[in-house]
Amino acid sequence: MLIQNTPQFEDIKQQIAQFIEQEVYPIEQALLQKTFYQIEPLLNDLRDKVRKMGLFTPHISPTFGGAGLTLVELAQVGEILGTTPYGHYLFNCQAPDAGNMELLAHHASKELTDRYLLPLVKGQIRSCFSMTEPEFAGSNPTQMGTTAVQDGNEYVINGHKWFTSSADGAAFAIVMAMTDPEAPVYQRASMFIVPTDTPGFELVRNIPVMGEAGEGYVSHAEIRYNNCRIPLGNIVGKKGSGFTLAQERLGPGRIHHCMRWIGICQRAFDLMCRRAATRQLADGVMLGHKQTIQNWIAECHADIQAARLMVLNTAYNMEQKGAKAVRNDISAIKFFVANVLQSVLDKAIQTHGALGLTDDLVLAFWYRHERAARIYDGPDEVHKVALARSILHQYGLAF
Ligand SMILES: Cc1cc2nc3c(=O)[nH]c(=O)nc-3n(C[C@H](O)[C@H](O)[C@H](O)COP(=O)(O)OP(=O)(O)OC[C@H]3O[C@@H](n4cnc5c(N)ncnc54)[C@H](O)[C@@H]3O)c2cc1C
Repeated sequence: MLIQNTPQFEDIKQQIAQFIEQEVYPIEQALLQKTFYQIEPLLNDLRDKVRKMGLFTPHISPTFGGAGLTLVELAQVGEILGTTPYGHYLFNCQAPDAGNMELLAHHASKELTDRYLLPLVKGQIRSCFSMTEPEFAGSNPTQMGTTAVQDGNEYVINGHKWFTSSADGAAFAIVMAMTDPEAPVYQRASMFIVPTDTPGFELVRNIPVMGEAGEGYVSHAEIRYNNCRIPLGNIVGKKGSGFTLAQERLGPGRIHHCMRWIGICQRAFDLMCRRAATRQLADGVMLGHKQTIQNWIAECHADIQAARLMVLNTAYNMEQKGAKAVRNDISAIKFFVANVLQSVLDKAIQTHGALGLTDDLVLAFWYRHERAARIYDGPDEVHKVALARSILHQYGLAF
C-alpha cells in the first residue's frame, strides 16, 4: 500500500501539526495538572479555534456537519492528535463520542439524528456508551443483566453498568439491553438512547482507576438504570440488532484507538531519544552512548513503524473492502499496537529514571491511563483467540 495524500490533505496535516505544537504543547502541563471541569473553558476556547479552521469532527461526513476525512487520512491525523492527551477532544473525535457519532450517522432515525447526533457533531454535548456490567464477563457481552421491556409507548430500562467512560456530564448514554432473552443469542439485545436526565438514571460514582477517579470527560462511571422510561423511538437501529451494531461500532473504533496509540508512542519515543542524547552519565558519556538504550531506541523505532504501517494498511483495506473483510487485521492491530504502546511507554519512562515517574512529563499520565488499552474494546487474549481461530479455520480446523 502506498499512501498518496492529496495536496489539500497535506496542507490540513501541516495545519493540525502546527496547531498542536503551537497551541497545545505549551499548555499541556497546565492542562494535566488540573481537573477536567477546571480546564473545560480553556478547552472550549481551543475547540472554537479548531472550528474556525474547518477541521472540527473530522471523522464524520459533511452531510452531518463533520469535516469528512477518509479513514486513511484520519489515521494520519489521529497520530498527530494522539501526541497530546487532549488532542482528539479538541478536534471532537474522541472516544466514546466518535464511535457513537458513527453509529448514529448510520442507524439513527431522523428524529434521533436531529436531537442527538447533530449537537454531538457540533460539540455542544457529550455522550457515553454503556455496555459492560460488573456482574458479567465483558469479554462475552452476550451475557447481560440489563433489560429493556416495552410498556405502552415506552421502554423501561433496568440494569447495572460500569466503566461507562465519560458518563459524568454526558447528555445521553447509548445503552445495550436485553430485549428478547429467548431469541437466538446474537439477536437478544438492542441499543437505546437514554438521556442522562431521565428519572432513574443514577451515576453511582466515577470509579477510581490507577489512583484517579477523574471527572467529566476523563472518568469511567458506575451507573444504575432504575426503571428508566424512554420513548419507543429511542431505539437505535432495529430491535434485536444490538450485537451487530456493537461489532460495527467497535471495528472503526479500534482503528481510531490504534491511531491515537501510535501518536502516544511517537511522542514517548521523541522524549526518550531527547533524554538519551542529553543526559550525561559521566564526562563525555551520555545515556545514549550505552548499548542498552541504543537497543531500546532501535526496537521502539521498528515496533512503532510496524504498528503504523499495519494500522494504515488496515484503514486502507477497510475503505476499499469494508469492515468485514478486515476483521482479522483489526484483531491483529488491536493487541499488537496496544502492546507496542505499553512497551514504548515503559522504556521511555525507564530512560528518564525518576523523572519518568513524575507528572512533570506526560509519560506517567499515559502509563496510568493507557494500561487499559490491553483490556477495553476486547482484551488481548480475546483478539488473539479470534485471529488464531480464523486462521486455523482456513486450514480446515473446526471449532
Ligand atoms: C479504561 C476502560 C474504559 C472502558 N470504557 C468502556 C465504555 O465506555 N463502555 C463499556 O461498555 N465498557 C467499557 N470498558 C469495559 C471493557 O470493554 C471491558 O473491561 C472488557 O470488555 C473486558 O471485560 P471485563 O472487564 O468484564 O473482563 P472479563 O471478561 O472478566 O475478562 C477478564 C480477563 O480474562 C481474560 N479473558 C477473557 N476472555 C478470554 C478468552 N476467551 N480467552 C482467554 N482469556 C480470556 C482476559 O485476560 C481478560 O482481561 C472499559 C474498560 C476500561 C478498562
